[in-house]
Amino acid sequence: MGDAATDAALPPRRIIVAGDARDTFDALVARVATVHGNPNAGPFDGVLVAGRIFPGTEAAQAMQPYIDGAKTVPVPTYFVDADGAEGLEYAHSRAAATAQRGDGSSGSSYTGIEIAPNVFMLDKSMVYDLFGGVKVAAVAGRYDALSYEDASALGKSCAKTNGEVTEDDVREMKECFDEMKKRDVIDILLCRDWPAGTLEVHGREIGREAKSASSTGSPVARAVALALSPRYHFAGSHPFFFEREPYINAKSDPSSSPWVTRFINLAGCANEDSEKWMHALKIEPGSTIDRALLCKIPPDSGPNPYLVQAGAKRRADELQPDWRDDAAKKPKPPPQRPVVGDPDKTVFVRNLNYKADEGAIAEFFGECGELLDVRLATKPENGQSRGFCHVAFKTVEGAQAALERNNASFFGRDIAVEMANERKERQPRAPPQGCWFCLSNEKDLHLVASISGECFMSMDKGGLTAEHCQLIPVEHLPSFVSLPQSAAEEIWKYLQALRMYAETKQQKVVVFERHLELRNKGGNHCHMNCIPVDDDRAALAEKIFKQAAKKLDFAWTKIDPPASAAEAQAAIKAIADEGEYYAVHLPCGSILIQTINKGEKHWMQLGREVISHLIKAPERANWQTCMQDEDAETARTAAFTEAFAAFDPMKQ
Ligand SMILES: [Zn+2]
Repeated sequence: MGDAATDAALPPRRIIVAGDARDTFDALVARVATVHGNPNAGPFDGVLVAGRIFPGTEAAQAMQPYIDGAKTVPVPTYFVDADGAEGLEYAHSRAAATAQRGDGSSGSSYTGIEIAPNVFMLDKSMVYDLFGGVKVAAVAGRYDALSYEDASALGKSCAKTNGEVTEDDVREMKECFDEMKKRDVIDILLCRDWPAGTLEVHGREIGREAKSASSTGSPVARAVALALSPRYHFAGSHPFFFEREPYINAKSDPSSSPWVTRFINLAGCANEDSEKWMHALKIEPGSTIDRALLCKIPPDSGPNPYLVQAGAKRRADELQPDWRDDAAKKPKPPPQRPVVGDPDKTVFVRNLNYKADEGAIAEFFGECGELLDVRLATKPENGQSRGFCHVAFKTVEGAQAALERNNASFFGRDIAVEMANERKERQPRAPPQGCWFCLSNEKDLHLVASISGECFMSMDKGGLTAEHCQLIPVEHLPSFVSLPQSAAEEIWKYLQALRMYAETKQQKVVVFERHLELRNKGGNHCHMNCIPVDDDRAALAEKIFKQAAKKLDFAWTKIDPPASAAEAQAAIKAIADEGEYYAVHLPCGSILIQTINKGEKHWMQLGREVISHLIKAPERANWQTCMQDEDAETARTAAFTEAFAAFDPMKQ
């Protein structure tokens, strides 16, 4: 080994780092060509893609034009994820076709598998020397919670075939790093996955998406970042741009000074949300850079988040809120003020035209007598009229005159007028206002896919998948166990229908129900989350839920497949009684059940997070990431309703 101190300083390199480009490689190449040719920005030495550049199943189709020369890539472009077993197989076929040493080569001159001219897959977790002196540590593949937890030899070989990372990747990376010269510095750590625990400590105000990404991130990326102290760390697994405040690394030896790592997640290439997906870097290779420059600590730097003691408990406020929780919706609307006046002198008016505002209502009813107050009910989210109001008069006579306007036409609609106090007596069990699942509150009715007498099926808002739906009783009851048998049977019927529908798509349905006695909005309204999952992954459902339980220090009780809804209710009740519980209905029909004792800490998003890993989309654990606008939600509901029609019990 030569003495590194005598190495001449290398000139700065210009590199573009981009987010995942699975279906957008052409767009990436076009954009790179533009900036590369722009004298104010370029030229660039190369591109690093923190993810994929082709879909695994259509890799050949996507890449052939580049191999043939019909399309060209302007600068060397490297990526780290082949998109599963098929994509990886394709990459290896390219290595074989061009007689490359696709396997076994790990020499310092190795720069990955050449897929096409100027396109390389960094297929090994190792440190590469790229762009003339830039040290790029690449974690090859992707994090899959199941593969990672399964440390058996069979599991490892399976993970390798699928391009999924394991502890082996951490070990290989460390070995490679240990072989480097003492003075060498990792300039860039390139991963597909967001590292776990990035935000264990942080100094900035951060969004919930980032918190979620940090809590569900990859332990491999985390371990490598901790071991290698890279200057930059890029990921591309989440669909938004995020730049963490720099953190100060531990000193590699007592005599040296530390430097900082900057972590950045880039959104998907050419995304439609205008999220930043390209980052231009001008970087002087760290191994020869002036040490004082390397070790300059920016003023906003913080401590290393990965040094927080392993196993530190997640704080309650780090947990994701549910999309129904008020805290998740900000700004919080002010509560609607109560109407001023005497109930004996106040009328309740409904079937109002939505265009009728308080002014128009006051004018109309002002003809009946002197008014004290008018209060129109409005939607807290947008202030729109909900079609009913209270009108308070100074005198009983005024209210009596108003009653005569029952069925009168107002803004083109026949309005209903009744005494406010009478109304209260007539509706002793009004459903709690604000409950998302009570149909009477008319929230997101466009997501409803089917309604029977006592229950209905609704698409999940921010679903894990396009067909993630919920089975919900019409009546506001807290759990599946508490339903009258007739309602439970209807839900059961829907569930069986959904399972048959899934069969036709080589899928199986995984169901989870969380019964928590929420204090607000009249308590929990039962909703069974149903997610159709591809057969091969559905087969792992029991295993991954058991792994999750182990992490949380509990063990599920398993109930054999019940023959009917009543049997399922009885079996769950025998374990949970009237109390809170989590239930997972496995594809085989068995039910995993765990009771939650009063005051016990629980994982609000257990089902959602576990299933996000099961479907290999941990970024979808956070419902906010999955939110769509109303048009897209309506379209999703329509697509499901049509596909499910042949199985819908209400259409038979
Ligand atoms: Zn309800």
